[in-house]
Amino acid sequence: MSKLNKVQRLEIKASLAQRKAELIAEIRDELARSGHEHFADLAGEVTDAGDSSVADMLVDRNIATISAEVEELTQIEHAQARVDTAEFGECEECGADIGYARLQARPQAARCIQCQTLHEKNLPHGASL
Ligand SMILES: [Zn+2]
Repeated sequence: MSKLNKVQRLEIKASLAQRKAELIAEIRDELARSGHEHFADLAGEVTDAGDSSVADMLVDRNIATISAEVEELTQIEHAQARVDTAEFGECEECGADIGYARLQARPQAARCIQCQTLHEKNLPHGASL
């Protein structure tokens, strides 16, 4: 059971929403710069629609220039889907508390620091989270 209290959960929720808005703005800028204005408009439509997954829509279109942003957006949407569950704040690998300080720094974190370190060792060079 996660040890996050109500206020902490609300703060994580707020930072997830804020980071998501920043990412969508970055993605739209990047799409516009790279001549994908059409997709930038699409991202705007999906955002305005509310609950739909912007990340899924962009992944489907497989635009390489924004893959890192889309990857982070996917993690944020995943965290947003979990934030109201009892499991939120627990490591997906070992079930330990991720810790509020780590969640403040990286609200989309799905693993404790130990599991994350192990996970990154198994990823190709340059990958994150
Ligand atoms: Zn863990």
